[in-house]
Amino acid sequence: MLVDAGGGNQILALLEKVNVDINELEYGFVTHCHTDHLLGFVWIMRIVMYGYVKNERTKPFTIFASRAVLNALEEIVKLTIGEKLWNKVVGDKVFLKEVVDGQHERICGMDFEFFDTMAIEKDFPQMGFFIKEKGFVFAGDVPLSEHLYQKFSKQKWLCLEAFCLEKKRSNNEVPLKKHKTVMESAVVAEKLKAENLILWHGEDDLDGTRKEQYLNEAKRYFSGKIFAPDDLDIIEGL
Ligand SMILES: [Zn+2]
Repeated sequence: MLVDAGGGNQILALLEKVNVDINELEYGFVTHCHTDHLLGFVWIMRIVMYGYVKNERTKPFTIFASRAVLNALEEIVKLTIGEKLWNKVVGDKVFLKEVVDGQHERICGMDFEFFDTMAIEKDFPQMGFFIKEKGFVFAGDVPLSEHLYQKFSKQKWLCLEAFCLEKKRSNNEVPLKKHKTVMESAVVAEKLKAENLILWHGEDDLDGTRKEQYLNEAKRYFSGKIFAPDDLDIIEGL
């Protein structure tokens, strides 16, 4: 399952680099409507839809998301790729599946429980998911809402956003109203007694030292194992 797809067609090159054939991809999940999560799926949809037309693809493709995201995706794809093609494949080969808080879905042989992250920006509701059998919590690109702390305590994997290093707080006051710093996410993971913390949705490079700096900051506040993956990193043990 592809979870969010970035903001452009870079996703196609990245998947090619790791030999993931999009024609074999069966599931997608989009957390929310922001450009940097949704627009890559327009490119994925282009490959998927033409895959059926060109008989390169037989597997169905299902996208899970909130109604707002599915509506946005439909509108953009119809306007930029074509309404005729959309009408031909959606409902037949491509399925858009709305998810709401508390919904369970069987995906890739596992039970996914979707939850509303209670994102601060009400115009952009955001969903996360929990795979109980793996103890895996994916909280989207917003701080984990405190009402979920108890439910998600003592899990094996906690995947939290970290917008920037704590020392960069003063330059990022506006985005930090809806995001956390590395330090803050590490503090939450410690409080929840997670085994592993995956920090994602961070800064782009920091002159090639991003991973090192994120790990150094997070380990001062979190005693479990920390990952701050770059694109294409494989997380061992997941
Ligand atoms: Zn984002």
